[in-house]
Amino acid sequence: MARSISYISGSQLLSLKRRPNIAVIDVRDDERSYDGHITGSLHYPSDSFTDKISDLIQEVRGKDTLVFHCALSQVRGPTCAKRLANYLDEVKEDTGINSIFVLERGFKGWEASGKPVCRCTDVPFFSGIHWSSISPSS
Ligand SMILES: [Zn+2]
Repeated sequence: MARSISYISGSQLLSLKRRPNIAVIDVRDDERSYDGHITGSLHYPSDSFTDKISDLIQEVRGKDTLVFHCALSQVRGPTCAKRLANYLDEVKEDTGINSIFVLERGFKGWEASGKPVCRCTDVPFFSGIHWSSISPSS
């Protein structure tokens, strides 16, 4: 069963973000460190995305909706979303992921429309893991 990927607007994402079962995946590369990011988004840079895809699936366990974005969501965002959808089709494992979206106009559009931007510093040596997902006891 091929999963379809749809676009979602920034306003739609903002209202969806109140649900606990959604994960936002930022596939920008270095820009994330100086341009800020969407609060709580996970960082899976497009250049290493394919290698990290099983880590990503582990990290989003329990989420049923994934929203991908890059700077403009024209190339990297949709490409990574498609890679994930293809991967899910291949493994045929029940990951619980049933909706895959791409954020329209990407991070730039999000920021330009005045949506909240987080500028916390991700832990640099845990690339791909947002600080808030690291439990203090580990
Ligand atoms: Zn942050």
